Amino acid sequence: MKRLLAIFLFTATAFADQVPYAPDRRPDEGEGPFQRLIIRAATVVDGTGAPPLGPVDIVIEGNRIREVKSVGFPKVPIKPEGRPKDATREIDGSNLWVLPGFVDLHGHSGGVEQGTPAEYVFKLWMAHGVTTVREPGCGNGVDWCLHERDRSAKNQIVAPRIVPYILTNERMWDGGPIDTPEQARKFAQFVSKKGADGLKILGPAPLFAPDVLGALLDEAARLHLGSTTHLAQLGVAQTNILQGARMGLRGMEHWYGLPESLLTDRTIQDFPTNYNYNDEQHRFGQAGRLWKQAAPPESEKWNAVIDELIKLHFNIDPTLNIYEASRDLMRAMRAEWHDKYTLPSLWRFYQPSRAAHGSYWFDWTTTDEVEWKNNYRIWMQFLNDYKNRGGRVTTGSDSGFIYQLYGFAYIRELELLQEAGFHPLEVIRSATMWGAEAIAAPKAVKPEFGVVRAGMLADLVLVDQNPIANLKVLYGTGWIHVNDATGAVERVGGIKYVMKDGILYDAKKLLHDVEMIVQEAKAKEAKK
Ligand SMILES: [Zn+2]
Repeated sequence: MKRLLAIFLFTATAFADQVPYAPDRRPDEGEGPFQRLIIRAATVVDGTGAPPLGPVDIVIEGNRIREVKSVGFPKVPIKPEGRPKDATREIDGSNLWVLPGFVDLHGHSGGVEQGTPAEYVFKLWMAHGVTTVREPGCGNGVDWCLHERDRSAKNQIVAPRIVPYILTNERMWDGGPIDTPEQARKFAQFVSKKGADGLKILGPAPLFAPDVLGALLDEAARLHLGSTTHLAQLGVAQTNILQGARMGLRGMEHWYGLPESLLTDRTIQDFPTNYNYNDEQHRFGQAGRLWKQAAPPESEKWNAVIDELIKLHFNIDPTLNIYEASRDLMRAMRAEWHDKYTLPSLWRFYQPSRAAHGSYWFDWTTTDEVEWKNNYRIWMQFLNDYKNRGGRVTTGSDSGFIYQLYGFAYIRELELLQEAGFHPLEVIRSATMWGAEAIAAPKAVKPEFGVVRAGMLADLVLVDQNPIANLKVLYGTGWIHVNDATGAVERVGGIKYVMKDGILYDAKKLLHDVEMIVQEAKAKEAKK
């Protein structure tokens, strides 16, 4: 209730019951598309897992990459012969690393409860290099989501490409509960007719009955819809991840249902007898004790589950960052970007509350954090093994909950994949080419972005520090280092430019806009 009141205070003038659409893109927001832009002498990380390469000239015409040409050797003057010519605009890339635009496979576009306008969320993503977002649910409504998707596609707003995956929930349509095979098929048809890309399967519990889920996935496959799941504890006793994948489920979010696929000495999680799913400390506290109940790493069962999921081309989108407060609450709570970039309404939404999602700090203990640290170790080993055996692991953020801020949390996700054992180049591949593949695969088409290569759409990240040496330089707040010439402590990095669909945005300017939105909200509240 306290939360509702607080939200009302902030949103009364801004928005009462719907998240405001992003404002139209102003003429001074973004430059391009260009007739023929050449980024000169850059170092390219192409997104395939290949090592950095430079100096390279990148030619962009309109919204396409036309040519990516290696033009010499590091620290050697570049010969003019053979370099691409006739630029209508040039960027000196000699101090820039160029990567494909990032794909966030789990990006909620804010919500009324958070008091986060679309402009705020979209600019935080773009400022962190996210040029494509899979909207896992479209919680602001199907039509809202499609409306912003279309405006973004036409570059009428400053936003990533939006790929809507509709939540399997009765409030998303007028067709009633989704609890029988017939209803499940109808829902998939509704999503397809609307023109969305896929399904985010979260509930209700009857949907996880094998006949209902089977019908849903069968219809989804027929309609070339993608599917992914947050396989909540309410459904997993009926169908776990492996069983779902066998029915045609294309991928998963988070990790729920995975340890359950690895149980050998029980059939359900070892719930305490006083467990109540709607008590979120029960839910998240006990989840932190789940991986240790599964078959241990490298065991026969462990390997068999990994191999079968890979054979089924199953996508794992772990969203490691969104649970990080569980293993280190203070780190998540005191992250340095909150001061400047977290809206006061969002900050209130994060505070402990029995009535809000992801605010489960009723009595969080050292023991809970230690359990979660151990939980991560096994989970991360699973992800690394999955990747090493040939499986696809992607990057999603799930920001707006549990102290995780849009954009910033996406970069944290990259760091956590490195912690899981990924080489930074493997991390970037997960963030780019593999994300694009996960989106394209259900439609049986080839990705049009996600790799810096001729013919691809021009979605790019440009940064003036080496992100392979240190992923932290991708944070909007940059990173501290000591200048050895002066001895001064400096902030370096932060993405410099982000290009989406051939339009070049100054990433720092986008972040400044976000800062202004936050300042304005704080000033408004101070007056009350
Ligand atoms: Zn989510």
